Amino acid sequence: MPIPIKYTCTKCDLSGSTFSSWGGFNYKINGKLIPLSRSTGICYGCNSIVPVEILSDEQRNELFRKRKSPAHCLSCGSHNFDVIPHVEPDPERPRTGTPVRTGLIHKTCGGRIYADFSGPNFFMGDNLPERIFDIEGIEITRKEK
Ligand SMILES: [Zn+2]
Ligand SMILES: [Zn+2]
Repeated sequence: MPIPIKYTCTKCDLSGSTFSSWGGFNYKINGKLIPLSRSTGICYGCNSIVPVEILSDEQRNELFRKRKSPAHCLSCGSHNFDVIPHVEPDPERPRTGTPVRTGLIHKTCGGRIYADFSGPNFFMGDNLPERIFDIEGIEITRKEK
């Protein structure tokens, strides 16, 4: 069962969770659904913790030959974002609430981004949104089930 990771900034009130990138994210290309690779990042367009596109080399070469735009924020479409590095909870103190440093600096304020793994486990079942994007990563439909 996934655990949402909460990210916070040490200098400003920016905070958000990996929860925003859960659910089904797919491209629809030539009528086929292709899973969209994504990660959690800080977007400087919408100044939030958001799901951001990750364009893999394989996809760039094959499916995305026609694609023109670089990876972007899946919330506002900005290309100006930083991917938050993947970090693991401290094995000595799992889920005690001690936030882990991600190494990422929040450019707007110069604060450090920490990951907090102490959030509650929760199960969303089938309630996660299905989101569909075109080849450029522009959202086509969003339906909350
Ligand atoms: Zn900040
Ligand atoms: Zn954004």
